[in-house]
Amino acid sequence: MKRRLQRIYWRGILITLVMAMAAIGMAAWLKIDDTRAHLDAMLDAALKWTRDSGDDLQSLSDTIAGISPGLRVTYLLDSGLILADSEQKEELPGDPLEDAEIAAVRRGEIGKQLRMSAEDASLTLYLAGRVSPQLILRLSIPVIETARVLMVYGTALLLLFLTLYLVQRRGIARLAADQSRQFDDIRLLMDGETDRVQAVFPEFQPSLDAISYRVRRLKEDHREVLRTLNLRANFVANASHELRSPLTSVRGYAEILKEGMADNDEERETCLSTIIGECDRMLAVIEDILRLGRAENAGKKPAKEQSARQTAKEVCRALRPQAEKKDIALILEGDTPVKAEEKDLWEILYNLLDNAIRYGKTGGEVRVRMEKGVIEVRDNGIGIAPDHLPHIFEPFYRVDDTRDVAPEGTGLGLSIVQALMKRLDGTIHAESDAGTGTRIILHFPTEERKTK
Ligand code: ADP
Repeated sequence: MKRRLQRIYWRGILITLVMAMAAIGMAAWLKIDDTRAHLDAMLDAALKWTRDSGDDLQSLSDTIAGISPGLRVTYLLDSGLILADSEQKEELPGDPLEDAEIAAVRRGEIGKQLRMSAEDASLTLYLAGRVSPQLILRLSIPVIETARVLMVYGTALLLLFLTLYLVQRRGIARLAADQSRQFDDIRLLMDGETDRVQAVFPEFQPSLDAISYRVRRLKEDHREVLRTLNLRANFVANASHELRSPLTSVRGYAEILKEGMADNDEERETCLSTIIGECDRMLAVIEDILRLGRAENAGKKPAKEQSARQTAKEVCRALRPQAEKKDIALILEGDTPVKAEEKDLWEILYNLLDNAIRYGKTGGEVRVRMEKGVIEVRDNGIGIAPDHLPHIFEPFYRVDDTRDVAPEGTGLGLSIVQALMKRLDGTIHAESDAGTGTRIILHFPTEERKTK
């Protein structure tokens, strides 16, 4: 990149220098053109003046030369002999007859030539005309004093070149530094040490913002994948553990029966009912695992709004036997429309009321309050200690103290409820204090809330 920029810049410098030289050339050409026209007019006037004047040639040449600074006037014969020269030179370097302007006059034309002067190396314009059959008049004027021009323009070009070179070096060095800083920033972004990269060149900002956004998303996805993998691993370990205990028990009792170690019908009966009980327990765990899988993986279906009270009533009817066993009163208050399929709402309320009864106090109450898309299930049972509260929605999590009270739980009920609420775009949270009861609060999305 740096080399490429340098190449581009060098090309730029070269073009600038060529253009500067072309501009100088144009200015010189204009000056020559101007001087030629001026000298043409002077030659006409000088020829006429020489023919009409009676002055001697030397004083004539001095007078004419005085008209314009740098003008040189020379009178010479066809033979090349110098008769008068405004610079008082009797001889000129080289043979004047070989000069193109003199040769042209001798051929009967007006002689013009632009060439380097043999005396002072300046670019000089020569014009010559015939005064009489033997006498030739030559005017010459330096157009460009080459040495001075070379010095002035050469120095100017050198300065221009140096300035451009220094600007180029600084510019490219700064660009290279900016570029490497930009790459460092991008590396920091990739390593997660920064959230946003400020673009060195503003036009790159949208692309860098898009990269920052993608990197953030990838990181979040990565974290989510790790979390899910971790949850899955825990889930498998917990599920295996949940099934291993009843299976071990089943195997033990089956062996007792097989070895004929049960002495009488009563003992055999105990073995068989334990085996059946443990099998029921395993079935319950497997049923709940399947329910949880369905709740987590089933796609969202658009559901119509329906009254929650009707479903809550049916759940209470189904759970009345358990509630009566513990003399717990089931109380329904208010009603609210909720956007959920009836079987989902039934499963949610069933799990919550089942828990409230199981962990409820004998002779206590379970209250279901329904209002404006919010359903609250409250009991005055054993409650949940603050340490356990954040974990109760995790699969297979059970508060140890409650195990003795309700050994029949699988530890999956609240996970199923949470997964269902998530599918319905709702939320669930719990409030509790050990000993004072538990409040589970569900927020459902309602039409009213969505339009707000
Ligand atoms: P389980 O099938 O064991 O009830 P849940 O997922 O439904 O599993 O509940 C997880 C744990 O949360 C339960 O083991 C229990 O300790 C606690 N819990 C749930 N609901 C209540 C409640 N109403 N009162 C007290 N503890 C509760």
